[in-house]
Amino acid sequence: ESRRRSIADKVKSYPDFPKPGILFRDMFPLLRNPTDYRECINLFVEEIREKYPSTEVVVGIESRGFLFAPLMAQQLNVAFIPIRKAGKLPGQTISYSYALEYGNDTIEITRESIEAGQHVVVVDDLLATGGTLSASIELMNKAGASVECCMVLLELCDLKGRKKIKSPVYSMIPLN
Ligand code: 5GP
Repeated sequence: ESRRRSIADKVKSYPDFPKPGILFRDMFPLLRNPTDYRECINLFVEEIREKYPSTEVVVGIESRGFLFAPLMAQQLNVAFIPIRKAGKLPGQTISYSYALEYGNDTIEITRESIEAGQHVVVVDDLLATGGTLSASIELMNKAGASVECCMVLLELCDLKGRKKIKSPVYSMIPLN
């Protein structure tokens, strides 16, 4: 539909960035246009209102998930909470470690930011291999939360990352 097409048109592709062979997708041009940016938040919010009305928390993944999740939480009048890389959040945290191609990564949330049984939506900018989102789901489950849906602006469909994700996935702009 036309609302999504206008948003998709603003996403720029950069071959060989940050490394040779990688086609990097940049959504920052979209954020320069306030109408498109607002429309993008509206589309996410409409999807949540329609399909996941019990959502109590919108969780954003550092760092580009922070461009969308807090604005969505505001419109829905629910909490926003961040998932961050290990060592960035003060106080007691819950963490989850997962394997990368080379080495490990650990992500965290603030323990008191979530209550067992809460219904959450997890937001990031882009779904590639699915490693980041599936680790985020594991972290939320460790905290006792129930992930209603994972939402991304862009999905690189060829990588089939969606297969790794056990919650429903909504991607606004599927790309090949
Ligand atoms: P995955 O864990 O699904 O393989 O990778 C997704 C993560 O990598 C997201 O957090 C996303 O920000 C980042 N990422 C991977 N490729 C791109 C890209 O082409 N553009 C942008 N903006 N982020 C990317």
